[in-house]
Amino acid sequence: MDGLAVAEGAALGTALRALLGGGLGLLAGSFLATLVLRWPEGRSLGGRSACDHCGRPIPLRDLVPILSWLRLAGRCRGCGARIGALHPGMEAVAALMGAAAFAVAPGAGGWLGALFGWTILALAVLDARHLWLPDRLTLPLLALGLAAGPAPLPDRALAAAIAGGGLLLVLLGYRWWRGREGLGLGDVKLGAALGSWLSPLLLPPLLLGASLLGLLMALRPSAREAIPFGACLGISAWGLWLWSALR
Ligand SMILES: [Zn+2]
Repeated sequence: MDGLAVAEGAALGTALRALLGGGLGLLAGSFLATLVLRWPEGRSLGGRSACDHCGRPIPLRDLVPILSWLRLAGRCRGCGARIGALHPGMEAVAALMGAAAFAVAPGAGGWLGALFGWTILALAVLDARHLWLPDRLTLPLLALGLAAGPAPLPDRALAAAIAGGGLLLVLLGYRWWRGREGLGLGDVKLGAALGSWLSPLLLPPLLLGASLLGLLMALRPSAREAIPFGACLGISAWGLWLWSALR
């Protein structure tokens, strides 16, 4: 093969990987949207999907990610009630994350990066909607980062300790200074988990990116008093993972 054919083969391989990652992302996003809607209400994940308004079970042909929602113009086929954009939105974002992760990192790295991104997506939505970062997502993320994060083990363990310890100091300092909670322990555990996927050198840009996102959220006209800082940290961390994998 000449150089051009090799380059074409590589581009085709990247495109096929992105397609696979995007398809898996659609499925992951569909599952995660159900998770973030039902988990905070203590509802089971097993039962069939039904319209929240009329309770009518949703037929299989209306469960195709994104397309069904678009075809029904975001309304229930039975009662015409509006169906929120959370489902198609999370499906689209998870598909983009999967496609990007699989494209920039071949093999196990792509799978791990996609899993990292999808977990962050679920955490970010839960934090934005409920200011809740469940241990059952942050702790496995920390374990997986320590076990298989992209940086050498001493680097990722140190980054996890610095990020978690630093946020714990901020939490304690804020409590002492203002007499109320600024951060939660969920943010501390998430910080440690995100650190384990990065390295100490990436922690300053992680904090900078998260602060800029937090500032943007605070400036929105619809901003609430509490900013979901965990969501900002997570988005910043996944952006840094993608950037490191690209280099
Ligand atoms: Zn309905």
